[in-house]
Amino acid sequence: MISKELLEENKKKLLDEQKRIKTVLGHEDIKDGSGEFPGEYKPKYDELGNEEGENASEVENFGNQLSVTENLEEQLIRVESALAKMENGTYGICAQGDEIEEGRLRANPTAETCMNHAQ
Ligand SMILES: [Zn+2]
Repeated sequence: MISKELLEENKKKLLDEQKRIKTVLGHEDIKDGSGEFPGEYKPKYDELGNEEGENASEVENFGNQLSVTENLEEQLIRVESALAKMENGTYGICAQGDEIEEGRLRANPTAETCMNHAQ
């Protein structure tokens, strides 16, 4: 079993990370449920203006924000999955049933595999 101390420490880290990501993603404020984007969150589309050059910048910004949003959503899924595992008592267990090394969990609270089974 991983130590209670590490569990508490990582829970705090995960909750902080969850809060940070949700803040960056803009919470539910811009959740539109249209299915237009892979997750629940829609990146903000900056209106820079209607001149030709400005529109090109808007599209570029939008593309950048979309990939940032996707990465954050993936990270959020990992964080929430780790938190769920803490709830049901399977946190720190590799998919193959091994215990994940404490040093590994310390370095990466969302680690899902032990050293042996890391890709
Ligand atoms: Zn393993």
